[in-house]
Amino acid sequence: MRVFKGKRVKIYQLNSGKFALDGGAMFGVVPKVLWSKLIQPDPLNRIPMATHPLLIETEKGWVLVEAGLGQGWDEKFRKIYDVVEEDPFADAPVGREEVSLIVQTHLHFDHAGELSTADGRFRYNAPVVVQAMEWADALYPHERSRASYPQNRVKALEGHLKLVSGSEEVWPGIYVHRTGGHTRGHQIVVIKDAERLFVFTGDLLPTRHHSPLPYVMAYDLFPEEMLFVRKYWYSLFINERAVLFTPHDREAFAGEMYVDERGKHRLREVEPDGD
Ligand SMILES: [Zn+2]
Repeated sequence: MRVFKGKRVKIYQLNSGKFALDGGAMFGVVPKVLWSKLIQPDPLNRIPMATHPLLIETEKGWVLVEAGLGQGWDEKFRKIYDVVEEDPFADAPVGREEVSLIVQTHLHFDHAGELSTADGRFRYNAPVVVQAMEWADALYPHERSRASYPQNRVKALEGHLKLVSGSEEVWPGIYVHRTGGHTRGHQIVVIKDAERLFVFTGDLLPTRHHSPLPYVMAYDLFPEEMLFVRKYWYSLFINERAVLFTPHDREAFAGEMYVDERGKHRLREVEPDGD
């Protein structure tokens, strides 16, 4: 188990399912000639991805940052997205029932699927923090966002939400900040420890390969906004030497951001403090 240690928190990086998405859609306007050097697509042009939630041990209790893809997907869905289901708590130090708070960057199936069963039953005893705007958009998706919000899974969250707007400290030392860009209500999660700043980037930075500014996904509903919020957050990530957890690398990843000699934003891997 990958563990990152602060003074007051211990962060476990979990495995909550593997899947694959179209490489072209994942890299937006970046030509395949370039992105295929970073990740090899399969014969159907899909690139290997996964979901890696964070389970955080704090003085006050356990906080889950995202749940991930989860289980119970039907055959058609598993085929389209090349899904390999995983139980994120299989080797976790505690079970679902010990989690006191869940914080979601947004409610797309690859981030929130694990929160419920296929028949729409909520699996936790904790409230789910999400932006009010994201909840509204998940409940009333449009033609372009519908496939990302399977309604039986979304409806399962009803009555279990703690809606926030903008920026808020949702747990001692754990903050959410709305970014927009990917969805209107997308937020990132910042964990402030005594000496280290940890950030779960959500789809602001889906994989280690997406760090250059124009590497914005076609899945982003507001790609131009994404570019501008990245500029803001990237400078903070660099100044604070934040440890960034990306959600979708096939192998769990954490890194620090820097600008290379050609002016491109890059991530340098940060090794876990223990296994
Ligand atoms: Zn995602």
